[in-house]
Amino acid sequence: MSSDIIVIGGGIAGLTVAHELLRLGATVTILERQHCAREASWAGGGILSPLLPWNYSCPVTRLTQLSNALFPKFIEALRRDTGIDPEYQASGMLVLAGATGEPDSEGHGRAAREAREHDAEAWCARHDFRLSKVRSHEIAPLLASDEAALWLPDVCQVRNPRLLQALMKAVGQRGGVIKEHVEITDWQIEHGRVQSVSTSTGEKFTASNYIVTAGAWSGGLLREHALKLDIWPVRGQILLFQAQSGLLPAIVLQEQDNFYLIPRRDGYILAGSTLEETGFDRRTTAQAGKLLLEKTHALVPALTEATLSGHWAGLRPGSPDNIPVIGSHPHITNLYLNSGHYRYGITMAPGSAQLISNMILNKPQPLDIAPYKWPS
Ligand SMILES: Cc1cc2nc3c(=O)[nH]c(=O)nc-3n(C[C@H](O)[C@H](O)[C@H](O)COP(=O)(O)OP(=O)(O)OC[C@H]3O[C@@H](n4cnc5c(N)ncnc54)[C@H](O)[C@@H]3O)c2cc1C
Repeated sequence: MSSDIIVIGGGIAGLTVAHELLRLGATVTILERQHCAREASWAGGGILSPLLPWNYSCPVTRLTQLSNALFPKFIEALRRDTGIDPEYQASGMLVLAGATGEPDSEGHGRAAREAREHDAEAWCARHDFRLSKVRSHEIAPLLASDEAALWLPDVCQVRNPRLLQALMKAVGQRGGVIKEHVEITDWQIEHGRVQSVSTSTGEKFTASNYIVTAGAWSGGLLREHALKLDIWPVRGQILLFQAQSGLLPAIVLQEQDNFYLIPRRDGYILAGSTLEETGFDRRTTAQAGKLLLEKTHALVPALTEATLSGHWAGLRPGSPDNIPVIGSHPHITNLYLNSGHYRYGITMAPGSAQLISNMILNKPQPLDIAPYKWPS
């Protein structure tokens, strides 16, 4: 069978790009080796911002800002078309300086915290992002301690499993074809173009253009065609707690170890996450579960083992400096990649989809795409 574009991998990167290309009038087939929306994109937390945004480079900031600007309309269209609510909301993020922010006997901790606050304030002023200094109990009275904190009211979140569900439905509604249990096993490349792809079912698929959106598996799937692509699996584990709705009114981030709590509207609270380089092993571990439980309980004593209701892991597509590759292959003209979004694949999804779609359809770009090019 043939369509304009074949998208390989049905996570957030693949579904969002398929959705955007369909909106622009292309015909699209997604090939997914198992079920769509089950890997990193399902496992993620759904915070729509880098954790400490002032610590990242311009390419991360620009792509995040592009996505932030696209998110409201993107979600509204999905809600309207599918009737599924991805629970997009500006729940805000409270950043706790934690133990490292407390002064030592010589006051060094305080000086370091003030320097970091200064960086954060300067970044927020430059990027028109609201920030204020608060006591943590002003925002979240149920936290164990009342301490100096930064409040970022503009940070949004989305319930990523619902977003993925909505995207799958919308892709189908727009005439996209989703083929599950179809794994790409080989490439037929001639005259500098992909002619077709072989799959685990024995069927070959042909299109004018091919986009790899296979997350942590992108490099392995591309084999020698990956060139100098540097994408590797980074395991993240999350605990899920069932609490009463409103217990925690905002995302809480502990600066010292990037540990966070994300409250959903119905009372569920996600606690995460680990950063582990354990290859393609996405099993959960008792050790990480214990650590996350201890951290959660220390922050919010009301969250105990009794309220624990889930534990899962996913493999992020790691990349140097968290800068994804959104670009065409240096030598194979109809092969593209949209992957390596590492910790922020949900955050960066609409912006990345727009950039890759513009590239394929020869439309002008809203920003300089050079930082995202495929390394050769
Ligand atoms: C614990 C955790 C917390 C996170 N929190 C956040 C957060 O708060 N905010 C945020 O923005 N991001 C977060 N992330 C990161 C985000 O989830 C990822 O960056 C993003 O999901 C990557 O999406 P993807 O579509 O590239 O990969 P995936 O979702 O992994 O999808 C890749 C797909 O490709 C398929 N595939 C692989 N090989 C083949 C093949 N040969 N043929 C066909 N299909 C194939 C796979 O089966 C899979 O479905 C988190 C991640 C984790 C693990």
